[in-house]
Amino acid sequence: MAMATASSDQHRAAASETGRIEAHGWRVALVHAAPFLGMLVLALLLPLVGNDYWALIGTRMAIYWVLVSGLNLVVGFAGHLAIGYVALLTLGAYTTSVLVAGNVMPPVPVFAALPIAAVVGAIFGVIVGLPALRLRTFYFAMSTLGFATIVTQIALAWQSVTGGGVGIAGPEFPAPFNTAWGFYFLCVGIAAFTTWLSANVARSRFGRALIAVRDAEVAAEATGISKPKMLIAIFLLAGACAAVAGGLFASLQTYITPDAFTFDLSVLFFIAILIGGRGSIMGPMLGTIILTILPEIAAPLAAWSTFLYAVLLLLIVLVMPGGIAALLDFRSRRPLASNRAIVPRPAALAGIVRRSRGDKALALRGIALSFGNVKAIDGLDLDVAPGQIHGLIGPNGSGKTTTLNVISGYYAAKGGTMTLRADALPPGMPALRARHGIARTFQTPRVVGEATVLQNVMIGGTVEGRASFVEALLALPRNARDERMLAAKARALLGVVGLEGLADVRADRLQHSELRFIEIARALMLDPDFLLLDEPAAGLSGDEIDRLAELIKAVSARGTGILLVEHHADLIFDICHQITVLNLGRILAAGTPGEIRVHKEVVSAYLGG
Ligand code: ADP
Ligand code: MG
Repeated sequence: MAMATASSDQHRAAASETGRIEAHGWRVALVHAAPFLGMLVLALLLPLVGNDYWALIGTRMAIYWVLVSGLNLVVGFAGHLAIGYVALLTLGAYTTSVLVAGNVMPPVPVFAALPIAAVVGAIFGVIVGLPALRLRTFYFAMSTLGFATIVTQIALAWQSVTGGGVGIAGPEFPAPFNTAWGFYFLCVGIAAFTTWLSANVARSRFGRALIAVRDAEVAAEATGISKPKMLIAIFLLAGACAAVAGGLFASLQTYITPDAFTFDLSVLFFIAILIGGRGSIMGPMLGTIILTILPEIAAPLAAWSTFLYAVLLLLIVLVMPGGIAALLDFRSRRPLASNRAIVPRPAALAGIVRRSRGDKALALRGIALSFGNVKAIDGLDLDVAPGQIHGLIGPNGSGKTTTLNVISGYYAAKGGTMTLRADALPPGMPALRARHGIARTFQTPRVVGEATVLQNVMIGGTVEGRASFVEALLALPRNARDERMLAAKARALLGVVGLEGLADVRADRLQHSELRFIEIARALMLDPDFLLLDEPAAGLSGDEIDRLAELIKAVSARGTGILLVEHHADLIFDICHQITVLNLGRILAAGTPGEIRVHKEVVSAYLGG
């Protein structure tokens, strides 16, 4: 009886805890949504104060934003300089107009033509975007421009369908969308919808993966993020948004010719995002609004618009590189306490990180890798056992980091084998290592400076999410569950490494030593079987090194095998079970700390005894 009461009490407590977290989640969601709802209310109030002229401007804003909201994920989140996006607007405009006019097949109702245009836009979005997988920045930018030229030329040349230079009538929408304000409401509605979609992506693990690939590509790969899949998903979305915007644009223009799609328009979309700020949604939205109004209030300057954009762009780059979003980010201006201490609580690990099954050993045999004439590693044998800490030491340039890079797949060894339990670990393919249970940190911490500490740690668990991109896009329950799980685990791990107080601070405001602990928390998100640490104690104070030692021991006690590259001899000899000493890529000595400590060559060459 007493037990039953106790357990029902527990149930009630657990239920109220879940309820509390859900209520908290709702409040957070509402706080995030508030500025957008505010904008929507303003947009809905515009008809009360504006005339038809303002209906036109407002409609144009909404249409541009439909395109920019998708493009923002490509430019602002993934960091790819797609400057020729007017091409997809053109494509959507012509697809919709031609379908509605019935130039190639029987006429299609406009509300069916728009989704078809979206599909066409999505396909071409990927085609235009694919070069981004290989080309960096400038070259990709040029390829998008090239595509824009091709589309315009086709529109000009394919007279029987597009009307060539004479043009074609834009689609007409049925009542109640056939009045100025009716059409305005339709466009605002679609804009609200694409805002919602892009915000869902941005706030999901996919949005975090995008900025991780942008700002810390190597670290993103190490957490198992696949860059091609991510990019293809957002190119589909951005292409669809742009094409829908094109259909609406054609209707607003009532008649389109290739001249309507100027390079200025492409620049406007792009600069709206730069003014708005990377990785923000509200910023680029305000940027779009400002850039749409600017030519209207400065009508005499219309001829100068390209020049004005150029000046504006220079100003942003020089004066406010973070754009509008940085201006609105009041939280990041609040000072942080300067006397912060990192006090990890390794004991809490047990409840958070899944115990490694401990049935695998990582074995390297005869691994060799040269860079030109430099033999970075030359016939290396190494075993990391589950639950053990294996120290890898040696002077600078002896091949320690290279060894970690071979294990984590960044370099393919020229000789030798790597096995995990009985399976061969394929060379290369760093993004597959996470699935093999291998996580790592970096000699120079690689974090996303513009994301919060919590988001950085959550990035580590990207592959643990279950929801598909589409589920994230539509904010379906499975995505919400992923987010709750990842956020709770990341917060708990921040507690373990002693940084929970900084969870909501931008990572670029932190000290070097704090970044090292963030990297460890991020690596632990994977519940790794093996953890590779590259000089985790570099730049830490004596106290911090002691705490780090406790933390590493606690992780290995969960069954995780640890490969520890370190210069601090004390740390190595205190906590390692096995030590391998490298020199010029070869093993100088290997054994227990007791054996290494008295090894003649090691002592004379390295420990300076
Ligand atoms: P450690 O981490 O032990 O200080 P590294 O593994 O970084 O040493 O480097 C081992 C050797 O390989 C050094 O001589 C280094 O200059 C060389 N090396 C490492 N990475 C590269 C690279 N990407 N290209 C050319 N040489 C490299
Ligand atoms: Mg190194």
